[in-house]
This record gives sequence, structure tokens and C-alpha cells, in this order.
Amino acid sequence: MARFYLTTAIDYANGDPHLGHAFEKIGADAIARYRRLRGDDVWFLIGMDEHGQKVAQTAAEKGVAPRDLADRVSETFLAMWDRLGISRDQFIRTTSDAHRAAVTEFIERIFSRNPEDFYERAYEGHYCVGCESFKQDSEIVDGKCVLHPTRTLEWVEERNWFFRLSRYQDAITAHIEANPEFVQPESRRNEILAFLRQGLEDISASRARFTWGVPFPRPTSDGEQQTTYVWFDALPNYWTATRVPHTGAEWPAQLHVIGKDITRFHTVIWPAMLMAAGLPLPERVWAHGFVYFKGERFSKSAGTQLDLPAAVDHFGADAFRYFLLREIPWDADGNFSWERFEERYTADLADGLGNLASRVLAMIGKYRNGVVPAAGAESALDQAGRDAVAAYVEAMDRLDLRAGADAAWDLVSAANLFVQQQAPWALAKAGKEAELDAVLEALAAALARLAILASPFMPSKAQDLWAALGQAGEVSGVRWGLAEAPQVAGAASRKPEGLFPKPVAQ
Ligand SMILES: [Zn+2]
Repeated sequence: MARFYLTTAIDYANGDPHLGHAFEKIGADAIARYRRLRGDDVWFLIGMDEHGQKVAQTAAEKGVAPRDLADRVSETFLAMWDRLGISRDQFIRTTSDAHRAAVTEFIERIFSRNPEDFYERAYEGHYCVGCESFKQDSEIVDGKCVLHPTRTLEWVEERNWFFRLSRYQDAITAHIEANPEFVQPESRRNEILAFLRQGLEDISASRARFTWGVPFPRPTSDGEQQTTYVWFDALPNYWTATRVPHTGAEWPAQLHVIGKDITRFHTVIWPAMLMAAGLPLPERVWAHGFVYFKGERFSKSAGTQLDLPAAVDHFGADAFRYFLLREIPWDADGNFSWERFEERYTADLADGLGNLASRVLAMIGKYRNGVVPAAGAESALDQAGRDAVAAYVEAMDRLDLRAGADAAWDLVSAANLFVQQQAPWALAKAGKEAELDAVLEALAAALARLAILASPFMPSKAQDLWAALGQAGEVSGVRWGLAEAPQVAGAASRKPEGLFPKPVAQ
């Protein structure tokens, strides 16, 4: 059994979950669910980034303690992940004692293995609280961070612990060049290689006059106790999660899923930190794109923020998951629009998979008392099913989630066409019993394949379909062999109730 330790970025505890958070967690969850279907020993980590100036500032604005804000925000995020069916194995919070202790251990590993990697230095520069990082001139437009045009940059002058990132430039460049899978998609890999060619500057590892974080383990030469810079506390979460006793996480991770705006942190700084600590690098970092709503990533004016709970409720969590992963490419930017959501819901779910399941199971009920007949002669639909499974695996293995969904829905189209061409009602009328058996079995087998292939995208509806086919247990826990060769004959099926109800005209 192959280990598959999968992580997402930990989310800042300073606001409610938004569309971008949801897209990342849903995509990573689909990967986790797919790897479980393939028989991997999956460990799926998500969590919260609860330290740093941004959280402390937001708490101060609200008049609450940072820890209380973090507790409240974490609960809101967890409630959303439960609602969306995010099948996490572990939820890490950077304010937990276990994480804080392991961050100290991580920094001490660097001090003991590569003591010259930390040094003290006076520093000044523009600090963006939104990014929690110092900005270079190229990243500033009109005096504002390009990623946070509504925030005011802070001018910071302090003496900090620095991490000698520059020492790792050649090693990281060599690693990325030798391992094409390490940074994906390809556009991000090229971007990072170009960034590395410009040369790396050392980075701050601690902050002075600021306490909401993990105390930096060693005081400065003048005896000042500083606080670990939030990225130096946050990035190790992927490793600290494996330091908690009795979890199944084991370093290194097979996959870090992150947003493209934090690619440098994950493919340059984090690998350098790991090298300095004498730890292996993650196998792959996948940087997904942004999801825009009305042309914006975040609300810059009233009415441009998607109401996430309302969008999830609109057609239910499974339809929302499906829509995002089918509509938005996993390797580039995309748009959420209500028009497209309604179009896809009607075409792909209500009239597509939902109508197919409803018709086929109604016919098995009518002609065979709900019992799926034994397989007959090989049909075009059997071949289409095997082709869909092969195309799905090929797409999902390279993390092209949209192409994976496309492959599954190609089978929906093939099965709907097969119903039209074979006209089971005409076979029944003509008394062609053997042919009718073969057609109904082929259709039930296609539905079983679809329940399995759809389960990473819409786990709850896939389970409803699986149960309606008379299949035992959880579709999320089936042997992958059942996608390749479904076993449906003899199962007692029933018509699924309200799988994807047609939207009511308003
Ligand atoms: Zn910023």
C-alpha cells in the first residue's frame, strides 16, 4: 500500500472561509478520495494559521483576545469543511501546544545542524500585513502591495534573526531542474526557476516587539526574546503534524496543495528550511489558480463577495463541489458565475446523471422487479465504460481534476445515447428478453462505474446512487477493481429519490 500524505495551505484565522478556500479544500479532498479509491494509505491534513500580525490586528479591532478570535474562526472553517464533506484526517492549529513545541524543535534542528544558517541583522523595509511578508520594490505599486491594494504598507526597522536562504539557491534550483514533478503546474515551475535566477535574499526568521506567535528559541545577542516570524511558524505545520503521537502522518508529504500566490514560500523557502533542518523535501507542490467572482478574487466593493454558505445551499454541497471542479481548471484561474452554475446543474446533473439514473432504475424496476439481470453480450456501452475509467485514471493521476470529471461525464453521455439507441421499452414490447437483460445490465454497470468515478467529486450523491443500485457498503471504500469490472447482476435496485431535482423556475 503506497503512502499518500496530502496537505493544503493552512488558512489565516482572520475572516470567514471564502470561495478560494473552498476551491482548494474541495480539490484536495477530491484527490484524497481518489487516492483512497486507488488503495493508497492516505493521510489528509488541513488546518489553521493562527499566529501573526494580521490575526493580532483583527482581534484588536474586534476587541477580543487573539486566541478567542482563532477559536471562533477555526470553528467557522471546520463547520464549512464538514458541510462540504472535506474528508480530513487531521486538522492542525498553529496555536496548539504540539505544533508550538515542534516549531521550536524544528528551529533547533537547524541551529544544531547548520548553525551558520541563522544570524542577526538589522533590517528595514515595507511590510505587508496582508501577505505577512516584507515586499520588494517590484511588488509595490502606488505605495501598496500589489496583492493587497486596500492595505497600508508598514515601514519596519528592527534587528532580527535571519535565515540564510541565499545559501540554498543552487541546491533548490538543482532540485527543481532534476525533479520536473516537484513544482506543478508547469507555468508555476517556469516562474519559480526565473525567480531563482534573479538570486535569493536572506529572510527574517523572527520579529521584534510582537508577541502573538511562537517564541524564537534563542534570544538575540543583546538578550531580546523575539517571536518566530509567522511563515517560519506556519510552513513547518506540514512536518509538525507528523510529530503528534498517534497520527498516521509520516514525513515527507507526497503532495502540498497551495494557491499560486504562495508558490515561492512553498517551493523555495520551505525546501530551504527543510534542507537546513536535514529533512527530506515534499515530493510535489501543486499551485492552483484563483477563482474570480464578478471579475474579482476578493471583495473590493459591496456586492462582489460570493456568499459562500448561500452558494453551497443553492443546489447542495455535492453540486457545488462538482461545479467548481468541472468548471474551474485545477491548474489555472477560472470564474464562478451563477449563470454557469445553473446551466451545469441542469445539463450535467438534473438532465444528465440524475435523469440517466432515474430512467435506468425505473426500467429495471418495471421490467425486472428491481433485480439487475445477469450480463449478456458485450456492448458498446461496456467499452465506453472501460474507456472512461482509463481516461479518468490518466487525468486524475496527473491531477487534472476537470479532465477526470469530463471522462466520467462522457460516460453519462454514452449511457444516455445507449438508452436511445437500444430503446429498452421496444425490446420489452417485442419480448426480446435476452437482449433486454443485456441492455439493462450494461446500463446498471455504467451507473456503478459512475458512482465510483463521481465519488471524489460528489461523495454524498455518489453514495445515494451506489445504494440505489443495491450495492453494499460505502462507495468511497470500494476496491478499485469494481470500477474496472462492476458486479451488478442480482443486486436489488430501487429508484433513487431526488438525486438531482430539477430547479424550480422562479
Ligand atoms: Zn500583500
